[in-house]
Amino acid sequence: MSVTLHTDPDCPDCARVRAWLVANGVEHRELSAAASPETVRLAAEAGYGQPAYPLVETDAGRIVRPSDRELALFLGRELPPVNEVDCLIIGGGPAGLTAALYLARERVSTVVLEKATPGGQVNTTSLVENYPGFPQGVDGPDLMVKLTYQARRFGAEVLFPMEVSALREAPGGGHEVSAGGRVWRAPALIAAPGSDYRRLAAPGAAELIGRGVGYCATCDAPFFRNKTVAVVGGGNSAAEESLFLLRFVKELHLFQNLPELTAQRHLADKLAADPRVHINLNSEVTAVRGDPGSGVRSVAVRDRASGQEREVAVQGVFVFIGRTPNTGWLRGYVELDKAGFVVTRPGSVETSRPGFFAAGDCRSGARAQITTAAGDGTMASFLVRELLRERES
Ligand SMILES: Cc1cc2nc3c(=O)[nH]c(=O)nc-3n(C[C@H](O)[C@H](O)[C@H](O)COP(=O)(O)OP(=O)(O)OC[C@H]3O[C@@H](n4cnc5c(N)ncnc54)[C@H](O)[C@@H]3O)c2cc1C
Repeated sequence: MSVTLHTDPDCPDCARVRAWLVANGVEHRELSAAASPETVRLAAEAGYGQPAYPLVETDAGRIVRPSDRELALFLGRELPPVNEVDCLIIGGGPAGLTAALYLARERVSTVVLEKATPGGQVNTTSLVENYPGFPQGVDGPDLMVKLTYQARRFGAEVLFPMEVSALREAPGGGHEVSAGGRVWRAPALIAAPGSDYRRLAAPGAAELIGRGVGYCATCDAPFFRNKTVAVVGGGNSAAEESLFLLRFVKELHLFQNLPELTAQRHLADKLAADPRVHINLNSEVTAVRGDPGSGVRSVAVRDRASGQEREVAVQGVFVFIGRTPNTGWLRGYVELDKAGFVVTRPGSVETSRPGFFAAGDCRSGARAQITTAAGDGTMASFLVRELLRERES
């Protein structure tokens, strides 16, 4: 693997990274901004216009301003067997990355352990229209790449792929997790592993996500102004999101596979009273039809009582059949609700265990939005700071 270290004569961190490469026997060449226009260009790109050094480049990609651990992971080297920091954050979605940004700016040593790619669910949406400050909307993955850089710029370490599989009390207090075959300890831990929307398994549903199939009415309803949509599900989320959709759509077909709606009575009554709503019980959506170019055209629906199948023309399909929290790894360590979401104190992100906070979609009662996840991350960062201050005094 060819390794290039891009440096600038005035960069204080460049000497550290150079020394790490030498100490770890990594053969590399060094290019300085003083002599290499390509180095100046790459550094400006990496820092979004403000040159960022040092930059390590390999055939596989680039990493800017890496910590020793980030560099080791990037170059496929071993990490120390035991790693101790002030705050561990599990999950690199908007909740975890926002907490990391706030903590790193306060010079709290912070490590984010992310099992896949930083960004979380936002990486799956191409246009976010309700994140404040972007009047034309913003590309989801792009927003998350920038947030990751922003957190790292202040010193947060974002390590991936690092799946946390086990959690226990650390010897002498605090929390200890296992990830990437290594042990991680901290007096404070923020769990921000998010949740997964239960996906509609019908053929066509996966292929047409973002092309008419959606899992969040708050996010996507304005795209369906004066159109006809299908809603799959019959619980509280399906009913609440349907009522929101009705502010935009012309007609709404709700398909519930059970013989009755399981939503609260007052929500079900409101839906039933709206002449634009067609409630279909015992009805299973068996296929979503359309193509990625022109979007959704119709859904195929099977009546579970008669077995008959029919086709209903719609331009959008909203699926609300539940969310599954990614909290299996913390079962038995903190209180979870019946569905597995982390229980927090009302109006707070504090859990049943001191020094352990839960932020974002993994939290019981979470609103499942980017802004609310970021807000939880912010709140968690304040509580972590207070905890660390108390420990110092
Ligand atoms: C298709 C789609 C479109 C959406 N559109 C919008 C929108 O337009 N506007 C809006 O406000 N919201 C939108 N949302 C909702 C929004 O994305 C979420 O509410 C938000 O991302 C939640 O943030 P989070 O940080 O709590 O969790 P997530 O974004 O889910 O991030 C959690 C992270 O934790 C990681 N993780 C999980 N388990 C572990 C583990 N054991 N170890 C290490 N890492 C772990 C995951 O890989 C993930 O990266 C959308 C969601 C989807 C699915």
